[in-house]
Amino acid sequence: MPEFDAMDWIDGGATLKAGDLNFNVLVSPYSNGCSVNAELVSASTLDELENLNCSGKLLFLHGEIAKEQLMPKNFVFFNPEEHQRIIALLEKKAPLAILCATGRNASLAGGVYPFPLIEDGDFNIPSVYMKDTEGEKLTPFIGQPVSLHSESERIFGKGYNVIGKKGITGADRIVITAHIDAKKGTPGAIDNATGVAVLLLLAELLENYSGSKEIELVALNGEDYFAVPGQMNYVMANQNKFDTIALNINIDGAGYKVGKSAFSLFNLPEELHEKALEIMKEHPGIVEGIQWPQGDHSIFVQYNRPAIAVSSKWFIENIDSQNITHTANDTIDIVDCSRIVELAKAIEAFILKLQ
Ligand SMILES: [Zn+2]
Repeated sequence: MPEFDAMDWIDGGATLKAGDLNFNVLVSPYSNGCSVNAELVSASTLDELENLNCSGKLLFLHGEIAKEQLMPKNFVFFNPEEHQRIIALLEKKAPLAILCATGRNASLAGGVYPFPLIEDGDFNIPSVYMKDTEGEKLTPFIGQPVSLHSESERIFGKGYNVIGKKGITGADRIVITAHIDAKKGTPGAIDNATGVAVLLLLAELLENYSGSKEIELVALNGEDYFAVPGQMNYVMANQNKFDTIALNINIDGAGYKVGKSAFSLFNLPEELHEKALEIMKEHPGIVEGIQWPQGDHSIFVQYNRPAIAVSSKWFIENIDSQNITHTANDTIDIVDCSRIVELAKAIEAFILKLQ
């Protein structure tokens, strides 16, 4: 159980007042709290932000600049230059707090509306967010004083990955991963209790594994957490050992009751590819799926390792429009448990083929 620093967060709610109006605002996850009354200034593009004096003011971000969730400062796996420039500018301009108005962007933020533009425990300017339609009502108050009160508290603590190994130490590794964390506010059934259930079933099924590989079952802690600390911990611990990973199998979003399960294949050498196709033929509930990047298999793919992402076909095809992941809708009743069992048996059969 490798240990790392992590942060919990207590959301005590927020209020925003302008003139006689009260606005519906939500505290950005892991934000600092604040209580400020100051002039409202606004930016909808990077250029506007560059030319704005924000010091001692409340900054309203909306439109183009707020179109997609900004990657956290210390998220290294995917961090567009534009996001980094926006974050750097915000820190330089140092407004007292930031008000964000956002729309829908399911592929980066899950099925939530509005989505938090900022979700970053390493970013210290307090912020709240609201629906784009709510933001429209705020525009008449630009240049006027508004007051924001946000109750939000950071709690520092520890997190852990849980890793189980079986087989020949030092042999080529098959690393099977599922993230054990979920976003706050969601039960996290499909994202990702089902993945953890597959891991647990595999622990039983492979109890007597005596093949030529080393099997690593890894419950990664942090996929839905701003700075992915469990993933970073795993990457650091394996910095010079990625070439001993023969295959990653990552389970995320599996077991949805609509449609079939999907194996998405990345960098598979010919032999592995053929065997993966055989397994899908032998398990009628599993089909080949399109490649998708929003999961822990991407870490292994970035290190040029072969990987299989195990998910639900419906989810990976509707990732941009679904309103389930990261919401209260991700409950156990959308799970077909027989799919979980089929996946565990299929992954076991696949591993036993790789001698
Ligand atoms: Zn997930």
